[in-house]
Amino acid sequence: MKYFGAHVSASGGVENAPRNAREIGATAFALFTKNQRQWHAPQLTSAQIEAFRSACAEAGYAPGVILPHDSYLINLGHPEREGLEKSRASFVEEMQRCEALGLDRLNFHPGSHLQKITSVQSLDRIAESINIALEQSRGVTAVIENTAGQGSNLGFAFEHLAYIIDKVEDKSRVGYCIDTCHAFAAGYDLRTAEACERTFAELDRVVGLNYLRGMHLNDAMKPLGSHVDRHAPLGDGEIGWECFRYIAADSRFDDIPLILETPDEARWPEEIARLKVLAGV
Ligand SMILES: [Zn+2]
Ligand SMILES: [Zn+2]
Repeated sequence: MKYFGAHVSASGGVENAPRNAREIGATAFALFTKNQRQWHAPQLTSAQIEAFRSACAEAGYAPGVILPHDSYLINLGHPEREGLEKSRASFVEEMQRCEALGLDRLNFHPGSHLQKITSVQSLDRIAESINIALEQSRGVTAVIENTAGQGSNLGFAFEHLAYIIDKVEDKSRVGYCIDTCHAFAAGYDLRTAEACERTFAELDRVVGLNYLRGMHLNDAMKPLGSHVDRHAPLGDGEIGWECFRYIAADSRFDDIPLILETPDEARWPEEIARLKVLAGV
């Protein structure tokens, strides 16, 4: 079964996200469980947790179709001790928030070396950060997102994902999320069915599709290999509908949240409706 949704607003409280998802015809959704531009948030109250859980149950969203995203401030591969400690503490907090909400995965960008340490040193820190977070939480999978490789961001090569996963001790609670815009910007072609075939075969060979826990479906404003992270509405960018048709029709992408982070929210209902048609759901 295919589950499509978008990264919806949780403003006013996490319990509002399921309704926002419902309104656009989504069968999956993503959200921030706290303000993504702040380091800390007040603890969730039991009333908020209860409201979120019942809103999800009412709207028919099981944990497996919900893909929370962590704060943009967190850098789990930070070269400096203070930044690293702060990031790790905040990430543990995010994992625990997901656990409290009954969610089973947390999507995050791996991290950046900030030109101060090597890529490998930073990747090692990321893996260690994940190990720490998994030790301090229960039942939540750490879902590493591939990146466009803008600046010193790691995670743009499938090998980075494989390297990190290899160093995570509890393999049952680590996975990854592929963002189509990021993959394309990183140099993985997705413009035709043949290109998709090759890219996903490489992903399977290098990392393994068994670790795939979600996808971000975005078209790309900038050309192949640009390393620039600019999302476009589906069909309006350099990738085009062929890629999304391919994903919608391929059973390897069943039973995971397939999430739009496309820029024009007004078009989400139409994008989701079209994806559903292509998937036959
Ligand atoms: Zn992301
Ligand atoms: Zn993304």
